[in-house]
Amino acid sequence: MQHQKPEIETAIIIGGGIFGVSTAAQLVRMGVRVTLLNDGPLGTGASGRSLAWLNSARRRSPPYHAIRQAGMERYRSLASRNPGVNWLKFDGGLTWDADDSANEIAQIYRYERELGYEAELLSPQEVSARVAGVAGKAVTAQGAILNPGEGWVDLPTLIQILAADITKAGGTIITNEGQAELIVENGRATGAATAAGQSYRADAVLVAAGASGPAILAPHGVHIGDDTPIALLVETKPVSHPLRAVLNTPRIAIRPALNGAFFMDSAWSEEEVVVHEDGSFEAKPETVQGMLDAARKVLDPVPELEVAAIHIGPKPIPGDGDPVFGQVQALPGCFIAFSHSGATQGLIAGELLGEEIAYGIRHPMLQHFRPERFNT
Ligand SMILES: Cc1cc2nc3c(=O)[nH]c(=O)nc-3n(C[C@H](O)[C@H](O)[C@H](O)COP(=O)(O)OP(=O)(O)OC[C@H]3O[C@@H](n4cnc5c(N)ncnc54)[C@H](O)[C@@H]3O)c2cc1C
Repeated sequence: MQHQKPEIETAIIIGGGIFGVSTAAQLVRMGVRVTLLNDGPLGTGASGRSLAWLNSARRRSPPYHAIRQAGMERYRSLASRNPGVNWLKFDGGLTWDADDSANEIAQIYRYERELGYEAELLSPQEVSARVAGVAGKAVTAQGAILNPGEGWVDLPTLIQILAADITKAGGTIITNEGQAELIVENGRATGAATAAGQSYRADAVLVAAGASGPAILAPHGVHIGDDTPIALLVETKPVSHPLRAVLNTPRIAIRPALNGAFFMDSAWSEEEVVVHEDGSFEAKPETVQGMLDAARKVLDPVPELEVAAIHIGPKPIPGDGDPVFGQVQALPGCFIAFSHSGATQGLIAGELLGEEIAYGIRHPMLQHFRPERFNT
């Protein structure tokens, strides 16, 4: 694909999270002149406070599995080009369910095996013997699934690397002009205007503004289903601990981070975030303590965990849970990237969107993720 001449000369990207920089990096590689507009330092949205577990675990639609697995493959290629880096690891993932009627570990294990997704079903004793840093006694009797091909990425580091690629190839990154909005002329997206009063024109505009994506498109009659919650990510101080795998357990998800810290989140703690009337967020001390307690229960040896930072903010999730990628047909010249699991999909989405934007093709892998599905 990349030897073809692009059909466009210029593109604007609104948003400097993983989807925005990944697509911009792809476009500059193809010879498109890119201007990326972000309302502050890069990577301070969801990408800056992500668990960033690279996976296609559990049940999803076949197209969603396909793009996630392609996403993981792109990271493996990146890892092999950057051996030994501390910001991208494939040390596996381990998951188990609570010991109740909703436990579906056996079914999920069979399902993943049928998909060809690498999975092993381990007893609690096998977990102790096989997975460093995990308390086997915390694993329920139904066992745990080890997915050796899973990993994690430090998105802020990756974003800085891609940003350097963009500027090196002649792209422009603007971070000091506030929020951007679409410029639409004669029914076509022709550029973006920033809060600082600057206007930029281009042949194509990608809205990759994370949780703000639907609101940027709404004034132009484009409805994108939105189920974005406010998410909580707790970062611990560095701790010396053997855990290398990403854990997804009934009460807590934990992943090692590049400086020896742990990042952790969970569904229950997300629901306890307090959203104030002025739009600010707060995590109750007992919620954070509950997360640390839950983490200590699944780790062996039991570490002393201290909070280094609490990250709270929107986690972009489309209304039906599936990604929203590609051209907005009702608004020629406009494209969107709005999805959960943007760590896993970051590289592949940028690659496919870049090709759509540059060559005007509609990639078959994005067929199920078109924004038009919310019109029906
Ligand atoms: C707690 C948590 C855990 C997660 N866990 C995982 C996981 O384990 N695995 C996984 O794959 N994914 C995970 N995700 C999801 C993943 O992090 C996101 O899908 C991804 O980071 C989204 O990237 P983005 O580029 O769409 O948005 P963002 O990273 O939010 O970037 C959008 C950027 O656009 C900017 N912006 C917004 N509006 C405007 C505007 N009008 N003008 C200019 N700039 C604007 C924002 O400031 C921001 O910098 C998690 C997310 C969270 C929050």
